[in-house]
Amino acid sequence: MPWIKQENCTGCGICIDECRVHAISMGNGFAHIDMELCIRCGTCHDVCPQDAVRHDSELIPIEVESNIDYTRKLLKNFQGEDERRQFLGRMIKHFNKEKIVAEKSIEKIQAMIAGE
Ligand code: SF4
Ligand code: SF4
Repeated sequence: MPWIKQENCTGCGICIDECRVHAISMGNGFAHIDMELCIRCGTCHDVCPQDAVRHDSELIPIEVESNIDYTRKLLKNFQGEDERRQFLGRMIKHFNKEKIVAEKSIEKIQAMIAGE
């Protein structure tokens, strides 16, 4: 999924003109992508002269930290070694389920590419 790195965006508006589904708007001098409308065509990434439209993969460390912050926040609700351990085990199951959903989805998309 594309996202706009605000430090790079000059607000030139080129991506807004090129987005075929009008998913990009300007606010406070920066482009913003409405992910509900975005069809992931990649055009905004290709046309941006400032390299401000970034790839999803760059968000991985940020999202991992966000998940850990969330886990730490919830962990405060549990006292004692056993309770805390059980809670952390549930969080591992939660993220493991998300991993399996992603893996199965990738498998099915790969099958679509292969024409199955
Ligand atoms: S093309 Fe790039 S620099 Fe111009 S508004 Fe879009 S994201 Fe910002
Ligand atoms: S990826 Fe395509 S649809 Fe999504 S915001 Fe960029 S140009 Fe628009």
